[in-house]
This record gives sequence, structure tokens and C-alpha cells, in this order.
Amino acid sequence: MAQPAASAEFRFYEELNDFLPAERRGVAFRYSVAGTRSVKDAIESIGVPHTEVDLILVDGESVGFGRVLRGGERVAVYPVFELLDIAPLQHLRPRPLREPRFVLDAHLGKLARHLRLAGFDCLYRNDYRDSELVTAALAENRIILTRDKGLLKQRLVTHGYCVRNTDSEAQLREVLRALQLEACLRPFTRCRECNAELREVPKAEVLARLPEKVRAAYERFQLCPGCGRIFWEGTHYERLRRLLEPAAQSGAGFV
Ligand SMILES: [Zn+2]
Repeated sequence: MAQPAASAEFRFYEELNDFLPAERRGVAFRYSVAGTRSVKDAIESIGVPHTEVDLILVDGESVGFGRVLRGGERVAVYPVFELLDIAPLQHLRPRPLREPRFVLDAHLGKLARHLRLAGFDCLYRNDYRDSELVTAALAENRIILTRDKGLLKQRLVTHGYCVRNTDSEAQLREVLRALQLEACLRPFTRCRECNAELREVPKAEVLARLPEKVRAAYERFQLCPGCGRIFWEGTHYERLRRLLEPAAQSGAGFV
């Protein structure tokens, strides 16, 4: 029996399987391509946002998103941050940004604060609409972080990552690992509240504003020029430092 003319065989690799139902994970399966305009269209109708995809092989050749499927092809789809050496093939993404910057959806406020503490430039508001996220991402070359894979399917979106974990500390570890950000960590250089870069201040300069216990216990302080907050090496810092240390390897500490 011949296969139906207008279906192709798909296989998704690595974490792209997160977007598939269990029976389609890690195996080749047939999918109707009748009515799809391109391989990108077919991949998204299967449930995988195009922003997650870096490499598509059709019958062993790397192709662009616009490749039309006629049926009968074998399609292999690889994720953006797949570690295999696929350099000679056609990547669909521009190279990762050297200084990655982010915009986070309204549900990822805690992750935004963690990422800022790790030194990353993160735009976040708890009332962002999807269109505002996309506009901010495009205007400033920011990577969208979201748990809404529908958002990443929008045509205009070029850089995005769908966060799988729900716990904010697990999300931080996930994003650092998935986007290979370990070399970009600059812990405790940015205000977790307003995203401005912090500057060190002499204790004497902020002494009058410090709670009594803090005044006695700490010597190093940072001031946020954006919101005026003062930071010191408190328990929250300690927790984040522990969280970041395995990633930083060299034990990036305070600046
Ligand atoms: Zn601030």
C-alpha cells in the first residue's frame, strides 16, 4: 500500500519533543502536509514554534522555512541550541546574540528578577500584551522568554525561548543551560527591581539609609541609579550565588 500522497515523515530531535504528545516523541511519524504552505507551516501545525527550530533536513538536505512539502519527504527537525556540530549546514537562526538581552512575558516576573541578579538585561512588566512583547523584542534585539508557545509562533518573532519549568529557580537554570549563557554571567551588577546597572557606593554614603542590623553586619553596598535602592550581600544574594555557582564554574562572586 502506498502512503497517502500528501503526507510526509517527520522526526523531531532533543527538546523539540517537549512540544509533542508522548506517542510522537523521539520517533518518526507521518503527518498530512495537504494544505500546508511550507515546512514551517507544517512544523507549527504539529505544535512546535518556529523560534525553537534551527535546522531542518528534508531528505537529508538542509532547507529554509519556506520549503514546500509535496508529500513523501522525510523531514528531520533540530532545535536552536542543539549541541551537535551542524555548522556546515544551513542554520535558520542568525548566530546567538553576543550580549543576550531579554523581554519576559507577564507570568515570568520571578525569573526576570533572577536573570537581572545574574546580570542580564531583562524587560518585564506584569501587564505586557503579546504585541508589546514582540515590539520590544524587535526594537532592541531581545529574546522573548515565555511559557506561551503560541506567542513564539507569531510570524514576526525571530528570537524566543519557551520556558518549560514552572519553578523560578529551575527556570533560571533551564534558561542558562538552554541558551548557553554561562559565559555571560555578571552576577550582582544589575538591579533586580528596575533593571538598571548598579554602582558600588562607600558605606558612608548610604549609612543614614541603612536599617540598624544591616549597618552592623555588612560592609559592601551597591546603589541603583534607576530606582535609588541600596543592595547588600543579604540572604537573597546568598541563595542566588549558590544557584549560579555551578553554572559559573570559576565561582563568579561579587563585583
Ligand atoms: Zn533599581
